Amino acid sequence: MKVAKKIYIAVLLIVVVMITFTACQNKRENGTQPKDATTFLMGTVVQMRVYGSNAQEIIDNSFARLREIENEMSTNIVSSEISRINTHPGEDIKVNADTYRVIKKAVEYANLTNGKFNPAIGPLVKLWGIGTENARVPAEDEIKEALKLVNYQWIDLDDEQMTVMLEKQGMSLDLGAIAKGYAADEVRRIVKDSRVVSAYVNLGGNVLVIGEKPDGTPWKVGIQDPRHNRGNVMASIDVRDKTLVTSGNYERYFEMDGVIYHHILDPDTGYPADSGLLSCTIITTDSFDADALSTSIFILGPAKGLELLEEIDGVEAMLITKDLGIILSSGIEGEVDILNDDFQLNGM
Ligand code: FAD
Ligand code: MG
Repeated sequence: MKVAKKIYIAVLLIVVVMITFTACQNKRENGTQPKDATTFLMGTVVQMRVYGSNAQEIIDNSFARLREIENEMSTNIVSSEISRINTHPGEDIKVNADTYRVIKKAVEYANLTNGKFNPAIGPLVKLWGIGTENARVPAEDEIKEALKLVNYQWIDLDDEQMTVMLEKQGMSLDLGAIAKGYAADEVRRIVKDSRVVSAYVNLGGNVLVIGEKPDGTPWKVGIQDPRHNRGNVMASIDVRDKTLVTSGNYERYFEMDGVIYHHILDPDTGYPADSGLLSCTIITTDSFDADALSTSIFILGPAKGLELLEEIDGVEAMLITKDLGIILSSGIEGEVDILNDDFQLNGM
């Protein structure tokens, strides 16, 4: 089976599980019929549920906006702004406000994490090809060569002109760890502008809920069991007006000689991050930050990751360690329902 098809099916599975979590009760307890829609954008399954008479219009507008963001920021689209930056090193490339904001925030997170979160990761992502049919374990010298170009300090930003320049030939930007978060927040803006108070969007694991369910109960969101492909929930959490974004080693990977090589790369080693975590879920209000943070903390590992969390207000996290321990930040202790006895709560 082709890799893209496998990813599509796997992501579809979790969508089904998450819907069953929330769907059945909604229809029974409240006369309001939700409108559900699923599409494929940004290399992943996007699923929406909206309550309200104008639900279809909101879904159409949201999907159109997501398509717009994809066209601006995809490395797979040759006419995107990111591709234009990547193919014109040494030139100031004028970009629109969306792209500029996402690159700017990505560089802020690079500074915050000492470069572990690194939007200049492009050459390394391309070399490994994880999630594509060209996935392979590169030779040491290839990794060394790619690493020479992974330096976010060589991304020049001009706030006045909204231009972006890569200083060195061969560098490339990759916003895969942050742009879906920005996109989820944009969906929320569209929903809220339409005065809808109850909706849900899932961009392949970036979940954002608006309000509560129409029956007044919170949304119940499942946390993926990191030992399996999508579709296996090991915990759930009740939320209102929140986003839950997970970075995990199960999301995109290939296996060779019994070793799993996943898609979140450590810019210091050039290899998939091996920080002791299987997954990191961030729970907060803005998906933009949650996306950047979930990737950052996954790479930093539990100790440094939790240190970083302490610097930021209003952000909670659920970490799953390699030995199936669960670490919860203090604000969500008692809020998470563990559904699988294999996992042990370690606390902080
Ligand atoms: P995250 O943890 O949020 O991000 C992991 C991703 O970030 C990696 O896949 C890599 O791209 C990048 N990354 C790796 N290491 C680092 C690091 N140290 N610092 C910063 N970033 C890092 N996929 C396709 O197969 N086909 C497509 O056409 C396609 N189009 C896309 C268009 C857009 C605009 C975006 C945002 C993504 C697209 N994707 C596409 C990517 C796909 O959806 C990824 O699986 C997704 O972005 C990874 O997100 P995640 O939530 O699984 O993991
Ligand atoms: Mg991320």
